[in-house]
Amino acid sequence: MSRPVIFDLFHTLIHGADEERDRVVGEMAVMVGLTPAELVAAYHATWRDRLVQWDVEETIRILAGRLGGTPTNEQVTRAGEHRRALGRRVLDSVSTATLDVLDALRGDGHPLALISNATSDTAEAWPQSPLAHRFDVAVFSCDVGLAKPDPAIYHLAAERLGVRPAECVFVGDGADGELAGAAAVGMTVFRTTEHNDTDPGWGGPTFPALGDLPGMLREPFKVMEPAE
Ligand SMILES: [Mg+2]
Repeated sequence: MSRPVIFDLFHTLIHGADEERDRVVGEMAVMVGLTPAELVAAYHATWRDRLVQWDVEETIRILAGRLGGTPTNEQVTRAGEHRRALGRRVLDSVSTATLDVLDALRGDGHPLALISNATSDTAEAWPQSPLAHRFDVAVFSCDVGLAKPDPAIYHLAAERLGVRPAECVFVGDGADGELAGAAAVGMTVFRTTEHNDTDPGWGGPTFPALGDLPGMLREPFKVMEPAE
């Protein structure tokens, strides 16, 4: 069987939209009667909570409360929809070249999975995105209450694929220590710099274009067992 390939999402399959994210949160602030810079700072400061815990509306309510705001339900709903539209837009921005790579991997028989440290707007937009039907498994931190590099999230993805972690190849830019996390559970790790040179200290195989991946995976390489 061709080895399962597990991808990171942001800065691996699509861009990270970092600046657009701040702009959208600033616009949401205006919608709920808050100061844009304050809400943007509050979003940054609560990244971890948003990643594994709060949904879109909870985030707006909690942060508005902390900043002394009292938005109406209607305002929260409107700001939430603005955030959801961003989630859809970013996923829809995936390039044809990337979709072609995924199709080539599927054509070679590789089961595909996603493990993403993402907030709920992304997880909600995923099923309608052009990426979703190309993946056998998608694990979002906000859905499972776990985030990379926690070993449990890698084990969960492998379990859902019906394989052992050591059979899997993990591909990511390296944010959040995800490459070391994948290696620690025994996955073969490839770093991509196509979108961002996130983890330049990573000593393992690195490739500049996702298009190199199908060819690399056609080369034989041995399955690593995790160190006990
Ligand atoms: Mg990433």
